[in-house]
Amino acid sequence: MTNGLLIVFTGNGKGKTTAALGMAMRAAGHGLKVCCIQFIKGSWQYGELDAIKRFEGLIDLHVMGKGFTWKSENLEEDARLAREGWDLACTAIASGIYHTVVLDEFTYLLHYQMLEIDPCLQILTNRNPNQHVVITGRYAPEQLLAVADLVTEMRAVKHPLQAGIKAQKGIEF
Ligand code: ATP
Ligand code: MG
Repeated sequence: MTNGLLIVFTGNGKGKTTAALGMAMRAAGHGLKVCCIQFIKGSWQYGELDAIKRFEGLIDLHVMGKGFTWKSENLEEDARLAREGWDLACTAIASGIYHTVVLDEFTYLLHYQMLEIDPCLQILTNRNPNQHVVITGRYAPEQLLAVADLVTEMRAVKHPLQAGIKAQKGIEF
């Protein structure tokens, strides 16, 4: 029996998406199926996208949105895409075929009120008790943290960007 956990990686420090990806790899290493949904286009880079391709049949990846960046002027279109992504997440969670479902950068949909939080939390908390869900992103709402089983807040102590060091292969992408 698996004790399904609701896991949240939040905070301003670097490491949230890579932590979620590390969990996906760890599960896949055991031959367990993982579904990853990327809610913000571009948050998964070539390094991890190519790495995931090597786990074909074990890690299913869905990228939401076409040029969907949350900077859009068209809030209605953003809300529609948010619902579409969330519907996909609900289907993956309910399917029963995944050991772990990763919702990368999902916190922004709640923070920017693209989705109603209460129905989302209801789905997350009423899921199959064997199902692990990993949510990443800054500004995780307090209500989400309250229902999570595992919360890690990445705190930005230092980041190379502050020293003028640009994004590098294998580190940022
Ligand atoms: P990663 O994808 O490297 O695990 P993350 O998911 O924690 O990072 P996000 O908030 O999604 O970080 O931001 C994505 C990008 O912003 C990453 O390339 C990361 O290096 C960069 N970044 C994250 N935190 C900081 C920071 N405190 N200062 C500057 N850049 C940052
Ligand atoms: Mg991230």
